[in-house]
Amino acid sequence: MSQSGPSSIEPTIVPRDQHIVSRSQISERALTVLYRLKNAGYGAYLVGGGVRDLSLGREPKDFDVATDATPDEVKALFRNCRLIGRRFRLAHVHWGPEIIEVATFRALAPSDDADEGERVLEDGMILRDNVYGTIEEDALRRDFTINALYYNIADFSVVDYTGGMADLKAGRLRLIGDPAVRYREDPVRMLRAVRFAAKLGFVIDPETALPIPRMADALDEIPPARLFDEVLKLFMAGQGVETFESLRQHGLFRYLFPATDTALDDDEHGQFVTFVARALESTDRRVNEERPVTPAFLFAALIWPAILAQLPKGRLSPDLDRELVEQAITEALERQLRQVAIPKRFAMPMREIWALQPRFDTRSESRAKRLFSHPRFRAAYDFLLLRGEAGLVDPELADWWRAFTTSSADAPPPTPARRRRRGGRRRKPPVADGPEG
Ligand code: ATP
Ligand code: MG
Repeated sequence: MSQSGPSSIEPTIVPRDQHIVSRSQISERALTVLYRLKNAGYGAYLVGGGVRDLSLGREPKDFDVATDATPDEVKALFRNCRLIGRRFRLAHVHWGPEIIEVATFRALAPSDDADEGERVLEDGMILRDNVYGTIEEDALRRDFTINALYYNIADFSVVDYTGGMADLKAGRLRLIGDPAVRYREDPVRMLRAVRFAAKLGFVIDPETALPIPRMADALDEIPPARLFDEVLKLFMAGQGVETFESLRQHGLFRYLFPATDTALDDDEHGQFVTFVARALESTDRRVNEERPVTPAFLFAALIWPAILAQLPKGRLSPDLDRELVEQAITEALERQLRQVAIPKRFAMPMREIWALQPRFDTRSESRAKRLFSHPRFRAAYDFLLLRGEAGLVDPELADWWRAFTTSSADAPPPTPARRRRRGGRRRKPPVADGPEG
């Protein structure tokens, strides 16, 4: 990457007839923002995931705008605009639930930690002027070439400083600049590499992939709350299985789920891997059918091998002391929370799903009925079936419960679980807070 000064690279300008980014695919609000900036005399570009996804014929999640107008100048143009962030301020233009993020071109800061504007000032003396830059600098500080394309509303061309168009065509994910340097600046980029490759079906360029295994331990420095956000994006986007396999291959999974990673490695029969893969498969299916999913069930599955690994023989067996199980649950969860900050609203149901598992080890009708009326029954039962699919449960036990729930499901009154399933269709949040239906 050349950093010899502003405007040292000639961009490739891809004219309108040579790309497929079309205004008809851009949200009306984003267009309004782009045009109002342009009409006020500023440069205005659609950038990032929006241009990437439209270029691939996909529907973008959201639309981000980049401009040479300062945040105050942006604010002056829109009534419905809020400035967020401190060191680097971003403008959020609000229209009901839709937010268009407008970012002023950002300079290459040597200590840039890729924090998107929320960083607390350490010395209070950082001059804001230093953080804004040229479009070229803005392009070079982005992560992947395919994320650094600018759709120019002035002439509908795409401005390409990094060879992103060629990489899009080749299906190649390539970091801008020296990969080792870029990972050191922000280790989360290693996770983003795996995520985008899985999402788009792209190959990670060999040079971009090479440093990952040896630099993966830098993820230990990332705040657990940020890792939680990343883990959600990794596993809740509909390509969880590929993502999981790729994370394992690149030596990244152990920095997200350390105890699980060890348990998977130590498991001779591969049942733990099957178990995790099945859980991800069913989440992927739900996501791709646009049904609501909750992270609780999936996280419960991702950590289950770590719990089992602490039990004698690595199994849940009928004769096991419940306290031992409770202890294994607490220890595994505490270990996990040091790495990835799972919010309580997910951790609580996870605990319940786990704690209910030993109670399935019964064929007593009365005990089964009691368990059946537990508010978390449905999720816990789905979890039992998942264990069954991976060969972690006596198949006869799983069959018994299948028969029991089928016959009980016909009997009134409806359980809370059944009521939930019948409830009106929720509007499709990609991540629901409630229990998995
Ligand atoms: P998605 O569809 O997942 O939202 P996206 O490309 O829009 O993909 P965001 O995380 O929303 O990803 O980020 C928007 C843009 O900001 C990216 O396209 C990229 O140009 C830039 N960016 C985001 N995170 C980083 C980072 N860690 N380092 C450098 N640039 C980044
Ligand atoms: Mg985005």
